[in-house]
Amino acid sequence: MIKIYNTMTRKKEELKPINQNKIKLFVCGPTVYDESHIGHARTYISFDLITRYLKNQGFSVFYLQNITDIDDKIIKRASELGVEPIELARKYEREYLDDMRVLGVENVNYYARATEHLPEIINQIERLMANDFAYETETGIYFDESSFPEFGKLSRRNLEDLNIHRISPDDTKRNPGDFALWKKRDDEPFWDSPWGKGRPGWHIEDTAITEEYFGPQYDIHGGGLDLIFPHHEAEIAQMESISGEKPMVRYWMHTGFLNVKGEKMSKSLGNFLTIRDLLQEYDPEVFRFFVLSTHYRSPIDFSQSALEQSKNSLDRIYKFMENIDELIESDLYENNDYDDKLIRKLLFTRSNFLKAMDNDFNTPEALSIIFNSIKDFNREINEKNVSKSILKRVKLFLLEWGEIFGFKLHSINDADDRTKELIDILIDIRGKLRDKKDWELSDFIRSKLNDLNIILEDK
Ligand SMILES: [Zn+2]
Ligand SMILES: [Zn+2]
Repeated sequence: MIKIYNTMTRKKEELKPINQNKIKLFVCGPTVYDESHIGHARTYISFDLITRYLKNQGFSVFYLQNITDIDDKIIKRASELGVEPIELARKYEREYLDDMRVLGVENVNYYARATEHLPEIINQIERLMANDFAYETETGIYFDESSFPEFGKLSRRNLEDLNIHRISPDDTKRNPGDFALWKKRDDEPFWDSPWGKGRPGWHIEDTAITEEYFGPQYDIHGGGLDLIFPHHEAEIAQMESISGEKPMVRYWMHTGFLNVKGEKMSKSLGNFLTIRDLLQEYDPEVFRFFVLSTHYRSPIDFSQSALEQSKNSLDRIYKFMENIDELIESDLYENNDYDDKLIRKLLFTRSNFLKAMDNDFNTPEALSIIFNSIKDFNREINEKNVSKSILKRVKLFLLEWGEIFGFKLHSINDADDRTKELIDILIDIRGKLRDKKDWELSDFIRSKLNDLNIILEDK
């Protein structure tokens, strides 16, 4: 039984999907106006792990993410750089997807761009207007917070707190908490709508996209803690007003902040780190390990020493794996008297590991179980208690861990013969390229093999 901490109820609840074992998961995607930073990476690595674990436990997951490719920030940045907003958005979308691939985030089934869902967005706004949940002014269409008495139920704010959205003198909103569904603008880029030229507000794109692919109700919505208010609150108001079906989402999941040396990461503090900056210095797997060694809801503090520690820990797992591989290839006995005892030990370890993961994806606890087990089996190895058949089982367990946590522990020894031959061909081609001094292409082959954890060393 998997328990998930639901931000809506502030409790851990048993995971029961709406439709049997099929989970519909939506996570807020990036606004593609700049390089993604390591705080984003933390969120997406966390949801990647969550998806991997749910799949390991027999759920089928459809993971949907939006791409905010129209937004004031994109337009502003594009005009500063003198490029078309859509060009800028596509460039940073490509970089984002590259970053995610390098970080091993590979479980998103579909990325939905806002600009490709304008009919759905306009249609939702029309339905809100038709039922008086929204109103038109000369600057746009606004959601009327007073039409939705439950407004604030996710963030547990009352209307007084909501007044932080102050009305500026030239504002045309009725209530301070009202938010834009449609902005009337005739500067590029704009779309035609029943209310004239303009572009959508930010909150409406998520509900338009989730309604299109999931319907008015679905299982999990995730994102960073900072999105609870007003973004997710606004989504609930929009969708539940339109459909009348509650709740829009069964489980709200939010990731904690990533701080840098105890301080919030921000451009003005100068401690802002993009994923690309990070990968100049660190292996993506080390960063991934660092992220997963803290629970996804807790704040996590980025520092060089924390990264070094993660590197050492991850190295221990790889070294252990290598050691096992060597022993399996050696002339060690196939079975022995200790097998039953060690099998029980391993089963017990695995069940504790799964229990930790079932408990709201408690990765730090799951990792400590893995490390204790490595220590324990190292001792058994030293005492010559292990047979090949046990080591093969230990290896399978670690490979399962690697699948769930997103580490490519498979060694070249695990490849089938045909794959090994193909890799040999690539290595030959690379050798010929090096003879011709085509460094660019030979480095390309090496780095691609490196992505598959095949390390080439030129000696
Ligand atoms: Zn959302
Ligand atoms: Zn969102």
